[in-house]
Amino acid sequence: MSELLLNHLGGRWLPGTGAGTALFDPVLGDELVRVDATGLDLPAGFAYAREQGGAALRALSYRQRAEMLGAIVKLLQANRDAYYAIATANSGTVKNDSAVDIDGAIYTLGTYAKLGAALGEQRFLLDGEPAALAKDGAFQSQHVQLPVRGLALFINAFNFPAWGLWEKAAPALLSGVPVVVKPATATAWLTQRMVQDVVDAGILPAGALSVVCGSSAGLLDALQPFDLLSFTGSADTAALLRRHRAVAERSVRVNIEADSINSALLLEGEAPGSAAFDLLVKEVVREMTVKSGQKCTAIRRVFVPQALYAAAAEAISARLAKTTVGNPRNEAVRMGALVSRAQLATVQQGLQALKAQAEVLHDGATHALVDADPALACCVGPSLLGTRDAAGSEAADRVHASEVFGPVATLVPYRDAAHALELIRRGEGSLVASLYGSDDARLADAALELADCHGRVHVVSPAVAAVHSGHGNVMPQSLHGGPGRAGGGEELGGLRALNFYHRRAAVQAAPGVLVRWAQG
Ligand code: NAP
Repeated sequence: MSELLLNHLGGRWLPGTGAGTALFDPVLGDELVRVDATGLDLPAGFAYAREQGGAALRALSYRQRAEMLGAIVKLLQANRDAYYAIATANSGTVKNDSAVDIDGAIYTLGTYAKLGAALGEQRFLLDGEPAALAKDGAFQSQHVQLPVRGLALFINAFNFPAWGLWEKAAPALLSGVPVVVKPATATAWLTQRMVQDVVDAGILPAGALSVVCGSSAGLLDALQPFDLLSFTGSADTAALLRRHRAVAERSVRVNIEADSINSALLLEGEAPGSAAFDLLVKEVVREMTVKSGQKCTAIRRVFVPQALYAAAAEAISARLAKTTVGNPRNEAVRMGALVSRAQLATVQQGLQALKAQAEVLHDGATHALVDADPALACCVGPSLLGTRDAAGSEAADRVHASEVFGPVATLVPYRDAAHALELIRRGEGSLVASLYGSDDARLADAALELADCHGRVHVVSPAVAAVHSGHGNVMPQSLHGGPGRAGGGEELGGLRALNFYHRRAAVQAAPGVLVRWAQG
């Protein structure tokens, strides 16, 4: 039987008492390790995190906590090879795709280490200037932000076991809030190993970082009113969590990142083969194939003027055809596996459902697998679908509503700019839309038109071809999250991320009281 990974809770390494759930190599089919959370005393472990971890973190300044993040960066960098090996085995990703997760995590931590250092020796944040409540200013209101005195529970998705932990933990720990992470079972190994390395290195105070691997049973029951819950995953699970009494009755603050039907839009006035056209084609192919399309930010819908439908279909398909799919250990392979047989089946089902309302422009099934057994490997070639004409784009409802979490996108022709915006809005709120064009005024107008229903609008013009950060790359400096279907969450965005981990209060007092904080 494979190794059983330990949980870290209440300051101790603990095995579950059950048989455990096995994690598999999605390419070779081998059992790798097992996880189990049966029998853990979650209420006691959570109390330890709040009382020991929280108190120790809050006793430090932002600068001191930022230093800890810096130390974590160094440790993770030193162990990168081990993390890459786990990602290859457990996520089936090629090196470049593992980098998005692992190096993306390290970069995000490093960014928060720098941002935190600039906050200096403070232990809380002033929010705005004092406001006069009496005519002569003799009585004033000052808003302050204090780290919450609960813990932050992260329930994470399978596709980012490294980045998904640290993009949340960096602002939480910097804020002085202890973290309990429950990784998705399928890929829990990498999260567990990183937590183990950081805990064993003694960088953080006891209770500051805990990990529970395996079933989520009982986690929400152990939450208390000042705790926080940050969830990344499917809309169905999100709906369950919102209804839980911890949220409904105890007002546990929740952040949700869920499904998203992200868009790429080629503006009008761009010819086939123009710089903007080529940038769209390149980005769509990259987004479809990076991590086999298992990215919450990946482009799912590609909007082009209807006169350019055939040209765009041909250009994207030609690039997709060159994608080699299979065993990530083979240097010739550009796209590895989906995460599990279950995901493979879900993607195939979703693809079938979309096909009922669309034509196939590039068929993923035409990609022979390199160095991988199709009966075992969870690999699938990239598929481009299309809704044929503007009328077809309107009639197809599934493409605007159903997220196929794999290398699948649909080309959607539009009549005019207003039509394109209306179709994009049928996604009911997304993480990101990217715009491609060469006319700055048109790009600026379209960006504002879409900003209310997206967390991020990524504008690509020829001037930024070599420097833009990529449609799907989540940069810690920019907001990550989206309204509506995308879950309504907000993460990252520089120091804005700290808001979730702080409580705002107004203190009303004489200026002589309030001025003491301004003096430090
Ligand atoms: P999922 O089934 O909802 O699982 C997500 C997490 O929730 C896992 O850790 C899972 O644990 C846990 N979970 C499942 N049922 C639960 C319950 N009843 N109570 C508490 N926790 C529960 O989602 P998924 O299929 O793994 O993830 C793919 C989805 O995540 C996609 O739809 C994608 O769009 C979304 N996603 C969004 C973002 C974003 O930032 N917006 C990022 C990545 C992924 P187990 O694994 O143990 O079941």
